[in-house]
Amino acid sequence: MSSDTIEAAVDLVRGSDDVVGFTGAGASTESGIPDFRSPGGLWDRYDPSDFTIQALRRDPVAYWEKRLEMRENQEFDWNAVEPNPSHEALAALEAAGVLSTLITQNVDGLHQAAGSENVLELHGSRRAAKCLHCERRLPLETLDRKLTEEPLPPRCDDCDGLLKRATVSFGEALPRDVLMAAKRAATECDCFLTVGSSLTVEPAASMPRIASRNGASLVVVNLEPTGIDDRADVVIHAKAGETLSELADGVLG
Ligand SMILES: [Zn+2]
Repeated sequence: MSSDTIEAAVDLVRGSDDVVGFTGAGASTESGIPDFRSPGGLWDRYDPSDFTIQALRRDPVAYWEKRLEMRENQEFDWNAVEPNPSHEALAALEAAGVLSTLITQNVDGLHQAAGSENVLELHGSRRAAKCLHCERRLPLETLDRKLTEEPLPPRCDDCDGLLKRATVSFGEALPRDVLMAAKRAATECDCFLTVGSSLTVEPAASMPRIASRNGASLVVVNLEPTGIDDRADVVIHAKAGETLSELADGVLG
């Protein structure tokens, strides 16, 4: 990692009035969260088509039986997961008034655990549940209690609608209000900082492009090359934690 590049990123962020952050899976890798889509990962052993929103609507009991079986066979302990230096650096930048909004593709809730407040979760959150009918959000504990104490499928106490985790499932549209807010933040910022995302899938790919089209500078931090490296002002191919710590130290120090 070249210190020139970190310094260039520090200068850009310091010279900006409204910095928006964007994070993908690479921001959580150092917290030990595996890439479930990698070979041998969870989605190699299960058929994603069994877990679509359509499968839940078609046969909710079968959906939940498979879901619970998958949970039992999952070695990964979500309760042991903690924020890493990249989450902490982004929270510190927000607390100092440098970062206005954090858009994330991650569903792990680690940004909020680190203290970030204005977080837009494009793919929802695994720390909450929701009703598919009245769209009410519930604590995850309520869903878990229903799964153990009540017959399948778990249903909403208010409207009897089907409950599910508040993550965006396969085949489910992204939450419209979150997506609109993210696009607005990308449009209005003057510096867009992306961390740990290859930026190859939508809507991730379009966010930095929207920012760039509207005059924002782009800073890319990712282990691998991304789809917007050629348009970025600063590109740092490195791990997120150390890079973000140095960036936050440089900006706030
Ligand atoms: Zn409901």
